Amino acid sequence: MTISASDVRHVAVLARLALNEERVPALVSELNGILAHMEVLQRVALPDVMDNDRGMPSLSLREDVAVPGVVDTERTAFAPMMRDGFFLVPQLDTHKPQLDVLPPKGKDLHRGRRTPTAVEGPQPQWKDPNRSGTTPTAAEGPPFVWLDRDVGAVVDAVNDGRCTPGDLVHAALARVTSRAAGRDGLNAVLSVDPVGAARDAEAVQARVVRGTPMPLAGVPILVKDNIATRRLPTSCGSRILEGYISPFDATVIRRLRDAGAMVVGKTNMDEFAMGSSTENSVFGPTRNPVDPTRVPGGSSGGSAAAVAAGVTAVALGSETGGSVRQPAAFCGIVGVKPTYGRVSRFGLVAFASSLDQVGVFGRRVNDAARVLEVIAGVDPLDATSVHAPPLTCRHAPDASLSGVVIGRPVEYFPGSLDPRIRALCDVSLERLRARGAEIRDVSLPHTALAIPVYYILAPAEASSNLARFDGVRYGLRLEGNGLQGMYEATRSGGFGPEVTRRILLGTYVLSAGYYDAYYRRAQAVRALITQDFERVFATGVHVLFTPTTPTTAFPVGAVSDPYEMYLSDIFTATANLAGVPAMSQPIGRIDGLPVGGQLIAARFDETTMFRVATVLEDALGQDAHR
Ligand code: GLN
Repeated sequence: MTISASDVRHVAVLARLALNEERVPALVSELNGILAHMEVLQRVALPDVMDNDRGMPSLSLREDVAVPGVVDTERTAFAPMMRDGFFLVPQLDTHKPQLDVLPPKGKDLHRGRRTPTAVEGPQPQWKDPNRSGTTPTAAEGPPFVWLDRDVGAVVDAVNDGRCTPGDLVHAALARVTSRAAGRDGLNAVLSVDPVGAARDAEAVQARVVRGTPMPLAGVPILVKDNIATRRLPTSCGSRILEGYISPFDATVIRRLRDAGAMVVGKTNMDEFAMGSSTENSVFGPTRNPVDPTRVPGGSSGGSAAAVAAGVTAVALGSETGGSVRQPAAFCGIVGVKPTYGRVSRFGLVAFASSLDQVGVFGRRVNDAARVLEVIAGVDPLDATSVHAPPLTCRHAPDASLSGVVIGRPVEYFPGSLDPRIRALCDVSLERLRARGAEIRDVSLPHTALAIPVYYILAPAEASSNLARFDGVRYGLRLEGNGLQGMYEATRSGGFGPEVTRRILLGTYVLSAGYYDAYYRRAQAVRALITQDFERVFATGVHVLFTPTTPTTAFPVGAVSDPYEMYLSDIFTATANLAGVPAMSQPIGRIDGLPVGGQLIAARFDETTMFRVATVLEDALGQDAHR
């Protein structure tokens, strides 16, 4: 099946995207390039496979027929639309706006400008926290020294008065300026909240004085810019939401504040979390602190880069197909994607609702563990969050792994895998064996289908979720003549090229005539991928160990083919499709660039995953960073 120029125009109308006619030939070839990789799904045998019940079984088709829209209230503005427990894809009324007006000629609203933030300033050298022997910068010494300590040590110091939350906020903000801000810095942090964070710090200090126990007392934290915060912008790296300030806090933000953490700023990301390099941000690319000529990975690259650069010990990101684990691997830190349903998505701007989860970055396994313990838990505001046994993510590093079976899935170690990555994985497996674990070769036969499946399902859900960004309620921009002109200029000029591609692709695979061939089939294969995991965990395997990514961080600008970029998630997207928890941790370096090892566990078994991760971190010691 191939997509023609008239298909692209038709799909654009369904998606209410005004396309510049000059872009159509390039879009036709890009979309056909992507769709060619989906053909493999047509050949998959589907023995009695039902639609995956975690997907969207009753999804309505996209047709040229209008149905009444679903009304958002302010508080659910970012939530996926749901009815009777199912995510809804609203059908579109193509009779309303006539979409033949193009944005002003020669005007690319998306390029060039970036928003100056409060954090610009001179950019002294930052140091790579994973390399020893670096020279201290001006931002060292008390209270800066606390930023380099484990979260547990910080909480203890705050509780016994050796340092104050105010000092910590101050130190973190100074490091944003010196290491993570824009211009010549990493461009990892988009906005900061000095006044609000200082006020939070005072409130935390008052609670410390009263003796209130707080698991994250005085811990500064950075948050990806697609998680709603009342005091800071939530731009999603997009022109269309530039300057948008949410009227509410995401549930994870409320939980962090209750636990004594202080949100100091928001981090750069690929637009609407679509990407693997943080180059798709309208605010410009983020750079990898280990080597600033390279990408930090994505889409949560800002959070990963900031943690790796020592700005804060922990940060929040979001995961749809690997956006926490992959940048964690590229930057040499820990990144965790919890079980789907473990953490509330309320206030996380929806990308692909059946895959999205808030994730955690930490310099160390235990730091990420502390944050996950705080943000996890059922939330009445997110119908897909679940009651689950409480998390125990913190474990003794010297614990024995005797009785623990670690699976080594052959599909994640293909013949084409970089032999240096394979060798580092072998070292990790050997150390785990030395700590008592049994290593067993296992097979997850549908692994290779994950990327084609993901790039049908994620764009399909995204095309529905992003339909709300109609340029009227969000990102108001007065362009053109009258409402219609404004509307179109906004919707076409407001999204960057990758988001535009995904909306078109998603609308195409959902449209009448292609739905069965693409969308339904992808749902069925998703079920097969999920069953692969269920089967292997049912045989007594506790966790799987794999490489996180097939390569180390690539140079900024090096990957221009969309599908090649998609392959960055070849080892991570499976866990999102199956809803299982997974994490990445540093296991060594190649030519100075970090390599991540991935652990994947059964649904809601974060406990075992963290137990193995904690032991592996201890067993590798400094070898994880060289
Ligand atoms: N890189 C993948 C994508 O572009 C995953 C993104 C994510 O996890 N948010 O969709």
